[in-house]
Amino acid sequence: MKVKIYGCRGSIPVSHTYCSRYGGNTSCMTVESEGKTLIFDAGSGLMVWEQEMKALYPSYPKNLPDPPKILISHLHLDHIIALGNFAPSWYKDSGMTLYTASRDERPLVNQIFGAFKPPYWPHDMSKMTGAKCVEIECGKQIQIDHFTVTPFLANHSDITMSYHITDGKKSVVHLLDSEINGMTTEMYDGLLNYCMNVDLIVFDAAYSDEDYPKHVGWGHSTVRQGVELALKTNPRAMIFAHLSQTYTDYELDTWAKHFGQAPDTYFLMARDNSELDL
Ligand SMILES: [Zn+2]
Ligand SMILES: [Zn+2]
Repeated sequence: MKVKIYGCRGSIPVSHTYCSRYGGNTSCMTVESEGKTLIFDAGSGLMVWEQEMKALYPSYPKNLPDPPKILISHLHLDHIIALGNFAPSWYKDSGMTLYTASRDERPLVNQIFGAFKPPYWPHDMSKMTGAKCVEIECGKQIQIDHFTVTPFLANHSDITMSYHITDGKKSVVHLLDSEINGMTTEMYDGLLNYCMNVDLIVFDAAYSDEDYPKHVGWGHSTVRQGVELALKTNPRAMIFAHLSQTYTDYELDTWAKHFGQAPDTYFLMARDNSELDL
């Protein structure tokens, strides 16, 4: 199983020399196994995934052997911003499937593409797209290809999903946009259960420990909280992602000083276009 980070940032995409090493794209990662790929979130990093597909398949977005399957954790803009320009959103027969929770009475396609209509966007994408939109629920396991995915509720505003993903051999927990601090005991115990002995946790470390007190209740966590979770659940690896766009490469380099407190876990910072072979 391979995990690739296409967007390591949270909130808004940035492009500048101050972030040239870690990158400036917002949330998007892939999990690949046995020739099948799941995409998690449609932040600006999805545009880079699209460039890779264009290079591989001249017919893109038509006739793809493995059409995009995107699980959307929640509908904050940093997790959907690429959908408006993403070619499979426009092409009716792209075979794209989008998975997320339903939040209100509107059809799911209107919820997902709600930000992409006038006056915020030139076209009403919900009317143009051919994407199949599938409702998923926290606690209800789903099967996509040979992957088993279990969404569970994150501690974040709106309905936000974390995911436990397995291909039967390796397992990954996608835990972005979730605040460890403030979880109920029941929620935290559930989290421990999902994270126990997995191969990888992709962990929300939006803020430094120094800055976190100014952001309590904003729905994000820190490297130190990730290390504490690793000590309790013993994952083989933990990637820190959803890094606030305000941090420079040099500042992010210093976060590694908090690593090393969980001897059985390999810790690393997320960088755009970095891969981990599990
Ligand atoms: Zn976010
Ligand atoms: Zn969010």
